[in-house]
Amino acid sequence: MDDLDKLPSFGAGETPRCSTSSLDRRFMVIPTSVSRLIELRLAEFLSGPSDVRQDIARRYGALPVYSDMGGNIFLTPSGDVVFLGDEGVVTALPGAPPDWALVARIAAAEKYPELAGLVPTRPDSAPNCPACGGAGRQLELRFRCGSCLGLGWVRAV
Ligand SMILES: [Zn+2]
Repeated sequence: MDDLDKLPSFGAGETPRCSTSSLDRRFMVIPTSVSRLIELRLAEFLSGPSDVRQDIARRYGALPVYSDMGGNIFLTPSGDVVFLGDEGVVTALPGAPPDWALVARIAAAEKYPELAGLVPTRPDSAPNCPACGGAGRQLELRFRCGSCLGLGWVRAV
């Protein structure tokens, strides 16, 4: 099979929700240097060992950045998100909704440390996420926090 990543899961039936939806779209612009790194990783993935996600990656030009029981998330070099559900349904999310874009970017940075530039910089005024106390994880760190999606902080109101 494929190398499913050992990333924490969102938890059964849990849809990512986000209190950081108000994140400015400027945060979502991917710097050219980071886009290039995504392209390089994608080329590497496509020429790597056979993987069930390669078809989707090739068709959409998107790098797989997250996998769990619920599906796979892909990120394109321009920041669009593609979701492959566990039933094989593909949903392309051009100009991805901020929640999905953020999930994809955090996951990408966790999987590929050189993509750390994808994670929004924490503003000085941003308090710790009240739901996870700043850990970005819940339930003994097994699950990504559903409120901050793993950032560990929220936007000041
Ligand atoms: Zn949190």
